Amino acid sequence: MNRADARVLIVGVGGLGCPSALTLAHAGVGVLGLCDDDVVELGNLHRQILFGQGDVATPKLDAAARVLRDAAPSVSLRLHRTRLLPDNAVSLVREYDVVLEGSDNFATKFLAADACAIAGVPVVHASAVGWVGTAMAVGAQGKPCYRCLFEDVPGDGAPGCADAGVVGPVVGVVAAAQADLALGLVDCAPVEGQLVTFDGRLDQLRRRRVPSRSDCALCGQAARIRRIEPDAYASPASAG
Ligand SMILES: [Zn+2]
Repeated sequence: MNRADARVLIVGVGGLGCPSALTLAHAGVGVLGLCDDDVVELGNLHRQILFGQGDVATPKLDAAARVLRDAAPSVSLRLHRTRLLPDNAVSLVREYDVVLEGSDNFATKFLAADACAIAGVPVVHASAVGWVGTAMAVGAQGKPCYRCLFEDVPGDGAPGCADAGVVGPVVGVVAAAQADLALGLVDCAPVEGQLVTFDGRLDQLRRRRVPSRSDCALCGQAARIRRIEPDAYASPASAG
């Protein structure tokens, strides 16, 4: 599709969402939606590059919109002052052509994966924990999907950025990969199923295609996720 006609939603205006939003705005997408209900904190600034010291305690959407409008006046911004939740996820992603999900918690990642599959909207998932990060593109046909890689919301033992820490430059590299995959989906390039992995200790960036899993609960032969069941997702925390 024409970039100027593309509507792209960014879920979580954090360490991944900030650089992705700037890249997509500069790349000429027509509509950029931002979904977040958080305020800027001092500890965000080393990786959330749309914000400065003067933005602390300001809603992230307001601070981000100011920078994005200045950087790319032609982009039309839509501000969704909410988290992605079971009761709004499908209707929200349906308003867009491509979704970028950069939240810091598994519940929101699986919710975004399921909602996009149900709505038939392509999505690029990304995460960065410690020195390692990944970005994965899922096409409109929803196969292979995020659940082909990670089967279900993990228990309390899985490390998140709150306990494993976040390395700012690693987040930046992963966000660039996420934005690149999203632009690939907009441009109809064959990026569906591609997984980009970056290891900051080895300075190693790898790109490979994820195989679909025939027993996947979302896209497999006997797929059983047909609608959003609120109990299937723990309460989503804020975007990192
Ligand atoms: Zn799958």
